[in-house]
Amino acid sequence: MAAEHETIYAVSSGRLPAAIAVVRISGPRAGVALEKLIGRIPEPRRAAHAIVRDPTSGAIIDDALALWFPGPRSETGEDMAEIHLHGGRAIVAALFQVLAMMEGFRPAGAGEFTRRALMNGKLDLAAVEGLGDLIAAETESQRRQALAQFRGALSSQVERWRETLIGALANLEASIDFVDEEDVPRDLLTPTQTTVATLSGEIRTALADAERGERLREGLVVAIAGPPNAGKSTLLNRLARRDVAIVTDIPGTTRDAIEVSLDLRGVPVLLVDTAGVRETSDLVESEGVRRALARAESADVVLWLSEADRAVTSPPAGARGRVVVVRSKADRIDSDAQQAIRHQGSISLSAHSGDGMDGLIEILSEEAEKLGGEPALVTHARQRQALSAALVHLDGVTAASPGNDELVAEELRLAARELGRVTGRVDVEDVLDQVFRNFCIGK
Ligand code: GDP
Repeated sequence: MAAEHETIYAVSSGRLPAAIAVVRISGPRAGVALEKLIGRIPEPRRAAHAIVRDPTSGAIIDDALALWFPGPRSETGEDMAEIHLHGGRAIVAALFQVLAMMEGFRPAGAGEFTRRALMNGKLDLAAVEGLGDLIAAETESQRRQALAQFRGALSSQVERWRETLIGALANLEASIDFVDEEDVPRDLLTPTQTTVATLSGEIRTALADAERGERLREGLVVAIAGPPNAGKSTLLNRLARRDVAIVTDIPGTTRDAIEVSLDLRGVPVLLVDTAGVRETSDLVESEGVRRALARAESADVVLWLSEADRAVTSPPAGARGRVVVVRSKADRIDSDAQQAIRHQGSISLSAHSGDGMDGLIEILSEEAEKLGGEPALVTHARQRQALSAALVHLDGVTAASPGNDELVAEELRLAARELGRVTGRVDVEDVLDQVFRNFCIGK
């Protein structure tokens, strides 16, 4: 039997044991499963109390709720059943054992329910990506962005652009085909170029915001760097309010990057404590130093620490993000010296006493808020690449000189094709594995 004709099942709720476990069953024999397990098919889309039994022995497996979603009006577009069991491992195992014995049934693979929904036109690719992000969302801004995408914010915009292009293409082709006829206007290049220029502007605006969208998914990366013993681990612990990094006064303890994620005003912040940067002959430590520098260079914000009562060391050159000079252990210097540090535009703080922490959190929040705000339209590299590729063809249209209608038509066609990739109207098979890489079983 072909994989897509098999009926699949999985626990779609969380990890067991739990109060309840939702088992989803999808495929042509979902109704058969209900008949065998509970002796009937409940009214569509209404929860029904059901005694689930082993069909061979008649033994009761659990007292449950059952729902019936006949296709195509279901999540996957196929016939689907949901059984809400008590969430014990043995209960689910007993049900799975029965299902496994049934002809044409098998456990679902990772993301397979969503894959079927995609194949049956229930969701498009951008919505699938939004769904994946929605489930992974840890903060409010991530949730809002993912929900907008899942509900079609990007898909509907891209579809509008695509339709505009197809309209322009149809007009142009009419002029090419009927070049000798009187009633078709000859110059269609100018209006086509005007339409395309507006549309390119809109795509550019969306792309300009794409980096924010992608970074919000990943989180704002903040690297805490500086020489050994500067107080990096202590600061990380203070920021994270728990003991995540080892704090000792032996220089060189943090040999690799330690990461903690925080929620700062709805934006995820990934704090990275990097190994102390110093000259060293220890191989493991020098690898730590190399990674620390690489991490600091690619971070959105680098908190460059040095002890307030020592000379400032210079931060690594070539950092991509904002470098904030932090003078640590301010409890060791008097208030005049602390004041002088602030006058230089640096942060003076003590992770021990907590003095000066507010100023640092304010700076991080400012950076985090740049990622929040209105949800970005483009949030995945895959979407950005397709839109950028479409722009290249649209630029070909705006740059064309009169008499090149055939070439312009081809560029329009190619641009529309690239737009089609965003929602999966084109080449859906090619990107499936990429899109479903992070999906789990039951989704
Ligand atoms: P790292 O090597 O940069 O990660 O430094 P640690 O966080 O391990 O700290 C090195 C030493 O400095 C430890 O003994 C800490 O207790 C001490 N330390 C860290 N922060 C402060 C602070 O705010 N005030 C004082 N007085 N000591 C601190």
